[in-house]
Amino acid sequence: MSKNYYDILGVGKDATQEELKKAYRKIALKYHPDKNPGNKDAEEKFKLAAEAYAVLSDKEKRARYDQFGEDGLKNSGFGGFGGGGMSMEDIFSQFSDIFGGAFGGSPFGDFFGSGSRQRVRKGSDLRIRIKLSLEEIYNGIKKSVKVRHYEDCPICNGSGAEPGHGTSTCPVCHGSGEIRERVGSFLGQMINIRPCPNCHGEGTVIEKSCRNCHGEGRVKTESKVDIDIPKGVSTGNYMTLRGKGNAAPRGGVPGDLIVEFLEEDHSLFTRHGNDIYISIVITWPQAVFGDDITVQTLSGPVSLKIPPGIRSGKILRLRHKGMPVLQGSQYGDQLIRIQVETPTEMSKDEKELIQQLMKLYQNKKIKIEKYK
Ligand SMILES: [Zn+2]
Ligand SMILES: [Zn+2]
Repeated sequence: MSKNYYDILGVGKDATQEELKKAYRKIALKYHPDKNPGNKDAEEKFKLAAEAYAVLSDKEKRARYDQFGEDGLKNSGFGGFGGGGMSMEDIFSQFSDIFGGAFGGSPFGDFFGSGSRQRVRKGSDLRIRIKLSLEEIYNGIKKSVKVRHYEDCPICNGSGAEPGHGTSTCPVCHGSGEIRERVGSFLGQMINIRPCPNCHGEGTVIEKSCRNCHGEGRVKTESKVDIDIPKGVSTGNYMTLRGKGNAAPRGGVPGDLIVEFLEEDHSLFTRHGNDIYISIVITWPQAVFGDDITVQTLSGPVSLKIPPGIRSGKILRLRHKGMPVLQGSQYGDQLIRIQVETPTEMSKDEKELIQQLMKLYQNKKIKIEKYK
């Protein structure tokens, strides 16, 4: 079936360039892969919109499309999109033309933001993982970790310039930080904007590089970071420590330190959400007559009443003896699964007693129940 590019962008057949651009921008923002990670449907919509915009924003292609539909593009040397549509790379190279903003390293940069041309350099984020025992998670804990990262060069204060020497306007881009080139592509003529290679998009060049950081404005270092880990975290939870990541080259905003938590396996306790599970094995007489026993919990030993006549597999609950709820005041429960031990090695006396019992039980019928 032929695609209706006008419907995809939600515009009329007589839409102007400005209307097309506006409609596309709206859709691109909504379905941008950075905003919809892992969402195939959004990605598909994003690609379709890019394809529709590429065709409709081009006068010749639009005319052919209006006249012959999608087929008009396929056999025309205009470079149809075949089955695969546009690649993400094509789409992002198209952006610089459409949104007019220069954007640095990442195509998922902040060019969707205010529309301002000003680019704030941001250092990269750092990611670390901290292993925690269930006891540590139960109590909450302060941890100090050593993190290797970039910090602003102390000699030049992050400017990259040798003290006493300044910066001057880049002679290649004359201060704009951009190189604009007209390029021909299958989308037609477009203006490709890329960061100036001489000044790395900064618009200025350093007269004399700092001898400590060689002009980078930052140096590798190791810092101790104190992390206050709240009670009740679990694997996959993370904290973002703003500004504790890598310093940006030559000033700018430092990246973040992202601390991810990893729960260690415990020798006794199993955690499900905020509940803690353990299994205990009791003797057969305990199961028959009941007993008062002591069980381990994360808050220490707690007494537990085993009711008489308990069956193997029964789960008893100790309320509020589980994990604290993250950022809450409640606690989960501890659940204790009862297993009744079947003796295999017995003393002579035990054996005799059980054999006597066996005789008493001779006429006892086996009960059959529904599986639960
Ligand atoms: Zn320096
Ligand atoms: Zn330059």
